[in-house]
Amino acid sequence: MANTTSTVTSVPLLDLNAQYESIKDEVEAAIRQVLDHKKFIMGPEVKEFEQQMLDYTGAGHAYGCASGSDALLLSLMAANIQNGDMVITTPYTFFATAGAIARLGGIPVFLDIDPVTYNLDPNQVEDFLKGKHFLAKRLNARADRIKAMVPVHLYGQMADMDPLMELANKYELQVVEDAAQAIGAQYKGRPAGTIGHFGAFSFFPSKNLGAFGDGGLVTVNDADKAEKISILRVHGSKPKYYHKEVGVNSRLDTIQAAILKTKLPHLDAWSDARREKAAYYRRLFGEAGLSVDPAEVDCLGDCAPMSGEGCGMEELADKVVPPKEVEGAPEHGGRHIYHQFMIRTARRDHLQQRLKEANIGNALYYPVPLHEQECFRYLGYTAEDCPAAHCASKQTLALPIFPELKAEQQEYVVEHIKKALTE
Ligand SMILES: *Cc1c(COP(=O)(O)O)cnc(C)c1O
Repeated sequence: MANTTSTVTSVPLLDLNAQYESIKDEVEAAIRQVLDHKKFIMGPEVKEFEQQMLDYTGAGHAYGCASGSDALLLSLMAANIQNGDMVITTPYTFFATAGAIARLGGIPVFLDIDPVTYNLDPNQVEDFLKGKHFLAKRLNARADRIKAMVPVHLYGQMADMDPLMELANKYELQVVEDAAQAIGAQYKGRPAGTIGHFGAFSFFPSKNLGAFGDGGLVTVNDADKAEKISILRVHGSKPKYYHKEVGVNSRLDTIQAAILKTKLPHLDAWSDARREKAAYYRRLFGEAGLSVDPAEVDCLGDCAPMSGEGCGMEELADKVVPPKEVEGAPEHGGRHIYHQFMIRTARRDHLQQRLKEANIGNALYYPVPLHEQECFRYLGYTAEDCPAAHCASKQTLALPIFPELKAEQQEYVVEHIKKALTE
């Protein structure tokens, strides 16, 4: 593995330069076109990009909006989430997932994750809906107050949607898929954003399909809900200046749509490249003797009561758990698109320090799970209420991954991880 001729001395977490260089002419021509016609709001490129997203996902309807956060907000508004409604979600996600629920006066219900995929655990949801979960009692969760569910396809691997949808149908919950990190991901051959009632996408620049600023999109299958989204994003007006309800101002800028339109045809090749980088990392970890399968770890914080600081990996301090393709496994019709390549280790903070010293980009997604956030203290959770999410937040680390990442750079990363964990 050691590459003696390598001249790598640093690896960025994400490098947007290489990608931009490869599509510069196309993108700049698209921007120039918008500058020429000057239809900056709801110009023709917005509709064209929405159509492209329909073709790409197979969803019934698609509406661009101002951000992924707004895509969640608009979906929950169209699902009629109101003051006091309970919405089940995961505590281990970017803040916007729960922020959208709370903004509408809804009550985010944080249920624990599957410690292998880091996605919402259907067993937790089932127990909660049946009233058997300790949180159901504590939160006084009557079935008629639980209105929706927001599963997140974290890091690019989809949540286990079949059992989640079965529960949603049985308990009449609206499902908003948070697909911000999962554009192009698949579950049993079905694309992210098309299984639930709504799909929320983000085009934040660091997402797999990134704009040059903020941007988002909602996919929706039902025609009535689609109409509602289209009205809500323009202040709830239809026709213009006639308002039956209060909406928001949330549109995808024409310039962003033009950029996204030129980038989308490249996305599958970029995602495939990310998958190849992930496979190479796995091979390198295996060859370096660092790799451990999560099944071999006694407890990843999911055993009660929550195990100490090591969260069940105390005996495996010199190992890492690479991401495991479960719902994202190709043999099950899955496709993990590696928005992030997350490893898990008992010595996360030490490793992070060493990587920093070696100029290797890395990040914590996410250091504080949402059930432990100050702004949600009023909900009354303790860290132990979602032990798998709590432990994941202490043990996971994002490594550099992007389509143009070079083999030598990956070798440099794994060499430094080996050095750090064996010292
Ligand atoms: C990025 C992200 C969002 C929010 O998207 P923005 O476009 O930044 O508003 C929501 N949920 C998840 C899981 C995300 O990663």
